[in-house]
Amino acid sequence: GSGGSQDSTIQGTDNDAAVSRLSAVELGYLSDPFARLFVQAAPGPATRRMPIINRGTYTRTTAIDMLIDRFLATTDSSRPRQIVSLGAGTDTRPLRLFISPNPTHRNIAYHEIDFPSMIARKQALLQSTPQLRSLLSSPTQLSPTTWQTSSLITNANNTLTLHALDLRSLTPASTPLQTLSLTAPTLLLSECCLCYLTPAEASAVLSHFTANISSSTPLALVIYEPILPDDPFGRTMTANLAARGITMPTVPAYPTREAQEKRVREEVGLERARSETVDTIWELWVPEQEKQRVDRLEGGLDEVEEWRLLAGHYVIVWGWRGHGLDMEVSAES
Ligand code: SAM
Repeated sequence: GSGGSQDSTIQGTDNDAAVSRLSAVELGYLSDPFARLFVQAAPGPATRRMPIINRGTYTRTTAIDMLIDRFLATTDSSRPRQIVSLGAGTDTRPLRLFISPNPTHRNIAYHEIDFPSMIARKQALLQSTPQLRSLLSSPTQLSPTTWQTSSLITNANNTLTLHALDLRSLTPASTPLQTLSLTAPTLLLSECCLCYLTPAEASAVLSHFTANISSSTPLALVIYEPILPDDPFGRTMTANLAARGITMPTVPAYPTREAQEKRVREEVGLERARSETVDTIWELWVPEQEKQRVDRLEGGLDEVEEWRLLAGHYVIVWGWRGHGLDMEVSAES
């Protein structure tokens, strides 16, 4: 189809993510008071996802939360830090951070970038939802494509800036780059976004940020996306996505954890790069007691082989540079 219909198919993937988040929240996997606000579905019970999907949502969400916590805990929390979410969609993470009692969850300038139609909807929701209006100031418009709101929680000093922009048209003059501090510690996040761009587009997006942020500034990158090696499961997943009109052009370019880490080191220029599959993250990062709690929610997981196969095809790859910042994760159990 045309670029336009491909773009709207890709925007639709956010609704999938929002429904999966709500499914995991309603079944008790995750705690997120904002998940329901962003699901357009009719009132009543949310779409219930399969147990392996719920476990996947749980694992990826808690793993990314943990990496962000490391970033916030190992940079100076008395000064501003920036989180830039590429293709943020209806992600609730900034809102969850803003109500968190963790003392390092302050001085956060959270920037979200997505297509104009997605940002317009999010902006309207922030504006009109009573539950959010008691948490955040009314969004002010900084430019024709930028809205900013700040946390009303005293002393938190957190802001959320929404940027309406096709990442493929990012230039040094675009508001995300103009409104960022070039010296505040920065974390770039792509939770299933850069995979929809070509490898050249994805690396151009990342270089716009890395080139602008001074090299002495702590910088971290966290990417979550599928890796689809040329194996039977990878081929089936690719075919299923294609049947829905979705292509993920970066995926053949970085089909393995090694290729993903090389991308972070060589293309993005971060000294340290790490990666784990979602399968391994569940095994090694989730404490035993928490694993038992999660397992009990749906009476134990029958589809263990399916879980391993699916979760083995998604990775979190992360990298960092800069004095003090430490995003090394060691197994908890
Ligand atoms: N990060 C969110 C999450 O994990 O819940 C949403 C993920 S959703 C699968 C992908 C998001 O990336 C969508 O909101 C889509 O609109 C956005 N996206 C994809 N390509 C984009 C582009 N070229 N410019 C801006 N946003 C884009």
